[in-house]
Amino acid sequence: MEFERKLEILGEGARFDLSCACGDGLHRVKDPFDRWIYPAVLPSGRVLPILKILMTNYCDNDCFYCENRKSRDFKRITFQPEELARGFMNLFNSGRVKGLFLSSANWVCATSAMDRILSTAEILRKKYKYRGYLHLKILPGSEPAQIERAGEIATRVSINLEVPERRYLEVVAPDKKPEDLTRPLKLIKKFIVESKGKNFRWAPAGFTTQFIVGSAGENDMEILKTTSFLYGNMGARRIYFSAFQPVPGTPLENNSPCPLTREHRLYQCDFLLRKYGFKYEDFIFDKNGNLFLEDDPKTLWAKTNHEIFPVEINDAPLKLLLRVPGIGPVSARRIILTRKEGRISNPDALKKIGVNIKKASAYILLSGRRVPRQMVLNESSINPIF
Ligand code: SF4
Repeated sequence: MEFERKLEILGEGARFDLSCACGDGLHRVKDPFDRWIYPAVLPSGRVLPILKILMTNYCDNDCFYCENRKSRDFKRITFQPEELARGFMNLFNSGRVKGLFLSSANWVCATSAMDRILSTAEILRKKYKYRGYLHLKILPGSEPAQIERAGEIATRVSINLEVPERRYLEVVAPDKKPEDLTRPLKLIKKFIVESKGKNFRWAPAGFTTQFIVGSAGENDMEILKTTSFLYGNMGARRIYFSAFQPVPGTPLENNSPCPLTREHRLYQCDFLLRKYGFKYEDFIFDKNGNLFLEDDPKTLWAKTNHEIFPVEINDAPLKLLLRVPGIGPVSARRIILTRKEGRISNPDALKKIGVNIKKASAYILLSGRRVPRQMVLNESSINPIF
């Protein structure tokens, strides 16, 4: 089979894996010839077109949600390491891709499949002298030496937990044992910590993971508790949430898809954890342990903690500014800088530094005065017709 046809099939097979920071394919490069190339956001904020691909879609596991599961009847193919490395370099040298995200189904066993990922990476780094972005998947159950080597040659690594608690593995991925995930996670943390401050950084862009949301009956409280643990205790760089979509020919084919709003609310909480100083305990859940879909989690927190508001924009510390709906990390820092030049008493000044006045007005004071809740007009923008 020709190389590009394989790319097509094995690129499609990788599309639900979001741990490379490149979305689910909805925002992929528009050129149909480049359907398997995704724009990925790097830790620096730079966006790179990367090839997201599986080594193979042969799998000896039978995870209930997965299109590559063993029992599903569809076309199976595999790349040889040299074939994939050479093909990637052709794409790279022609300027069509700037990085590679390499994963694999669990063909034969994790050790064997991981060996093929590593062989491809070694060929790229040694034979083709490729120095660019390389994200390697660590397969559950990989050997410690394989994990160590992956982080030595990769820019970033990821291992997908898929579910937030071990009991859910039995529900949707019975072939995976909890230790297949927890052991690699602990090793990843160890290698990252040990290489800190040294000339050589193990997986310099850190590690990421993803949860499939809505496949196993888990709730948002469980997902966010584990998310918070992974950031706080395991050193995760980013955590991604992939709304479950039923795949025909799997045991979950008749299950309802997870609403994208749920995925969106989880991402909002993820931002609040990483950038706003929120703790997992701050989030407000319904009686089933899920986030409310109607309200964003920050606004809901503010409504529930109304005794803290309104806050005086001219005095509030950064920590408190970050709790105000409509004020983000950038605008909060700008408020503090602007205050050094004098008091802020005009809503337009807040608007100019990026505050969403419509959202914030109910929660703030400007020099002791409430901000009118109606739309704030800039006088210079008023253009009387008489
Ligand atoms: S191990 Fe499970 S999730 Fe991974 S490819 Fe195989 S069936 Fe899919």
